Amino acid sequence: MPELPEVETVRRGLAPAMEGAVITRAEVNRPDLRWPFPERMAERLTGQRVERLRRRSKYILADLSGGETLLIHLGMSGRMTVSGDPLGQFVHTHPAAQKHDHVVLHMDNGARITFNDPRRFGAMDLMTTATAESHKLLAVLGPEPLGNDFHEAHLIAALKGRNTPVKSALLDQGIVAGLGNIYVCETLFRAGVSPRRKAGQIAAARVGAMVPIIRQVLGEAIEAGGSSLRDFRQADGELGYFQHSFDVYGREGEPCKRAGCIGTVQRITQSGRSSFYCAQCQR
Ligand SMILES: [Zn+2]
Repeated sequence: MPELPEVETVRRGLAPAMEGAVITRAEVNRPDLRWPFPERMAERLTGQRVERLRRRSKYILADLSGGETLLIHLGMSGRMTVSGDPLGQFVHTHPAAQKHDHVVLHMDNGARITFNDPRRFGAMDLMTTATAESHKLLAVLGPEPLGNDFHEAHLIAALKGRNTPVKSALLDQGIVAGLGNIYVCETLFRAGVSPRRKAGQIAAARVGAMVPIIRQVLGEAIEAGGSSLRDFRQADGELGYFQHSFDVYGREGEPCKRAGCIGTVQRITQSGRSSFYCAQCQR
C-alpha cells in the first residue's frame, strides 16, 4: 500500500503534466472504485484547468478552475501513469489501454494521466474547493506530519493518558495524518521505543523526541523518491520497482542495525498489522 512518501512522489511526478493544463477529455470506464464515482464525473472534469496539485495525508487533491477539487486515493494497488508528458525528461509514449485502466485524463499539453487499479480499493471524488477540508475523508485527519501544526506539544497531548500501544496511537490518523505501518515501525526503532509500550506511559520528553524523527524518516523516504513494496510504479511512467532500505521493516530475524546492539529484529502482530522491532534496544 502506498504510504505518504509514495503518494508525495506520485504528486510530484504528476504535477509537471497536470498543473496549468486543461483536461480536454476524461474517460471514466466504470461507475465506481471503492465507492461510486461522483455524478457526471467525466462531464465535470472536462474543460477544467488544473490550478494546483496538492496532497493531504495520502490523498492527492487537484484544484480545478471551476471551483471543484478532484480527490484521488490510490488505495492498495492504484497506480498513476503519465504518458506523452512534453515537460518530462523522458517522454513515455501512450501505452495501449490496459485492463483496470479505470480513469484516463487527456490533457491539452499532450499528456495522458491513467489511473489503473486492479483491486479497486482506490477512490475518486469531486468536492467544492472552498469546503474541501470538511469532506468526510479529510475532516477526520489530524495535522500533516511535515506541517507546522504537528509539533511536540501536539503529540505529547495526543498520547497523554492513552492506554493503547504507541504503535496503534501513531497509526491513528486523527493524531497524525498519513503515517502508515512502515514509517511507524521505522520511527519507533530510531526513537528506541517499543511498539508494545502503552502510549500514555512514555515520558513526555521521549514522545516529543519522536516528532523530529517522524519528519526525518518521512523526509528521507520522499528524498529517495518514495519506496515501493508491491506493485506501485513511479508516476513518471517508469515501470521499475525500487526497494527502499529500512532499518527494521521487513527485516524479521536479521541483526539489529543499531551500533553496538546484538539484538535481532522480531515481528509481532498488533491490531492485525505486523510490527517489526528490536526488543533489545527498543524499550
Ligand atoms: Zn537493537
